[in-house]
This record gives sequence, structure tokens and C-alpha cells, in this order.
Amino acid sequence: MTKHRSLYRTLNFLRFKRKSWFFLKFGFLVFALIVFCEYIIYYLVIFQCRWPEVKTIASGSKQQTPAPVLKVMFLADTHLLGEINGHWLDKLRREWQMERAFQTALWLLQPEIAFILGDVFDEGKWSSPKAWAADVERFRRVFRHPPHTQLIVVAGNHDIGFHYEMNTYKLQRFKKVFDFGELFSIKGINFVMVNSVAMEGDGCTICSSMEAQLIKLSHLLNCSRQEKYHSNPNCSGIQQLSASAPILLQHYPLYRRSDADCTGEDSAPPEKKNLLFEERYDVLSKEASQKLLWWFQPRLILSGHTHSACEVLHDGKIPEISVPSFSWRNRNNPSFIMGSITSVDYSLSKCFLPLEHTVLTIYCTAGILVALLILTHCQPV
Ligand SMILES: [Zn+2]
Repeated sequence: MTKHRSLYRTLNFLRFKRKSWFFLKFGFLVFALIVFCEYIIYYLVIFQCRWPEVKTIASGSKQQTPAPVLKVMFLADTHLLGEINGHWLDKLRREWQMERAFQTALWLLQPEIAFILGDVFDEGKWSSPKAWAADVERFRRVFRHPPHTQLIVVAGNHDIGFHYEMNTYKLQRFKKVFDFGELFSIKGINFVMVNSVAMEGDGCTICSSMEAQLIKLSHLLNCSRQEKYHSNPNCSGIQQLSASAPILLQHYPLYRRSDADCTGEDSAPPEKKNLLFEERYDVLSKEASQKLLWWFQPRLILSGHTHSACEVLHDGKIPEISVPSFSWRNRNNPSFIMGSITSVDYSLSKCFLPLEHTVLTIYCTAGILVALLILTHCQPV
């Protein structure tokens, strides 16, 4: 009898040991799966992105010393959810994805500047002071960056409201957090940041003051680009900047009829491509677009707002790149643009982030395998 009991105890112990070992292995597999899908996948995908090559001496230029290269990341439409719209799980998930993608990109690619082309928040247009403060705090956590990387944000309609919702209060609280002015010059490259929501052209106070600033700035930049700058009486006494043509950064794209001519895997879906854009809502008005082109004669324009990719050529020579949304809430395949820029040239490439479908497929497949494993293991012998 005692012998039987002892055998029974040993068998029980062995069964318990086997079960514990199984659950330990199972726990480790689940842990490894989460680490892979929530951390490692970002490294694997972003590791494949490379800074594009750029010419450092302009063709035909007498200049011999190469122009320094600036490495810039452009992203748009992060739409950090506020307290009203969206489920808390959605907010948690999307912010985690953006945080991992941004932090991994900073670590692997070491950009010198990251520009966000508007709509960083989803509810900045109506959020209470308390909600705004909470949104800003989360933004600072998600997009934290080392001191050698600068983060510059352009205003979007979800940050300060569409033109009819925008007011001095909303604009000022945005500027208090993200004030970089209209001009940012570095390594001889001039970036002009336009508050495109204020390009309504209706003479509102904010719009008039913004236009006056831009006219002044365009005068400064155009004078600096003239070879006979000093002998031009219109330019006398004006501070000279780099002679490089500016790069315009804004939220609304310049006027285009629709996204019908946009190509690429992250352009607008077929059912949306032929929808006509509404001026002052989807894109800038024709008049405002023309003004910006006249004033600045930019060499490149980058914009957001449409959440999809597009490349447009204005006046047959000025390219505009629509940067797709950086949030998985808006796309299955978010991305950012990598730019190697000098004062004489630039080269851009796109870095895609992990597809949401891929991550979900990995989780689902792993879930099915785990269920099968448990079922097989728990079969009575
Ligand atoms: Zn927008």
C-alpha cells in the first residue's frame, strides 16, 4: 500500500514537472512573440532603409568644396488621439506603434532633423486646456529625441482648427509648444514653414499677419539669391541668408484637382483617386498656391493632410511630395521620407514601417499554433 502511494506521488510529481516545464516554454514563446512583434520587427524593417545619395557639388558650379549634407526625416499626420474621439485601446496601440517606429528610426538612422508636417494631434482644434496639456505631454513622450536631433512641427488643421475654427488662442498655445518661426536655416539650406491653414486669403487677422510675414521672408530670401545683391537698391540693408532656393514645408498640399495621377503602393485607394479636391479644405486654393510659388520659387515642397502619397510637378519644374500619414490608424503601410539635402541638391527616399497586417497575421498564426499545442498537450493519455 505504502509502495503504491509512493509510486503515485512520484508519478504526480513527474506530471506536475512536465506541465510546469510545458507552461514555462509556453510563457517564453508568448514573451518572445510579443518582443518580436512590438520591438524587433521595427528594427528589422527600418534597418533596410538607407539615406539616399546626393551630389554635393552642383554641376557647372565653380565651387570646389562639397556642400555639407543634412539628413532629414519628414513625417506627417500622426493624429495623436484626444479625449473625445477614439477608443482608449486604439489610442494606446497607435501611440505605441508610432513611438516604437520613431524611436527605432532615430536610433538606426540618426537623422539631424525630423519635421512633422502637421496634424500631430487629432483634437487640438477643440481640446480643453487640460486635454491639450495631456496631449502635449504624450506627444513629448512618443516623439522624445536626443539633443543632437531637432524636431520641428508645422501646424495642421487638427492642431489649430480649420480656418473657421482657428483663433488666436489655439494658434498661440500651439506656438508656445512648437514655435520655430517661419524660417529655419541650417547648413546653407533654407526651410520655410507655412501655416497653410492661414492661407485662406480672406484677409482675416491671422491670415493677413501670416501673409505679411511670408512676403517679408520671401523678399529676404529672394534678395539673398541675387548675384548682384549689394547693388540692388531694393535689397540694401537686408540681412543676407544662404543663396539656396527654399524648401517649403506645410500641412495642406498646393492646389491639385484630385489624386488621380498619383501612383505608388501608398497613393490614395482607387475609389478615392478621382474624387475632386475642395479648395481650402483638402488642398490650398489656386490663388494661395500660386502666391506661394511666386513668392518663394521653392526647389521642393513637402506637405501632408491627404494621408496618402503623391508626387506633383508645379509649373512643370517644382516638385511637391505628399507625405503619407505616419499613423497605423490611417494606413496599413505608414512611412516617412528620408532626405539627404545640401544647399545645391537633394535626394529623397521612402522608408516603410512594418505593415499592420503582417503583425496581426503573426499574432493570429501564433495564436492558432498555441491553441493547437495546448489542445494536443492536454489530451488525456
Ligand atoms: Zn489635416
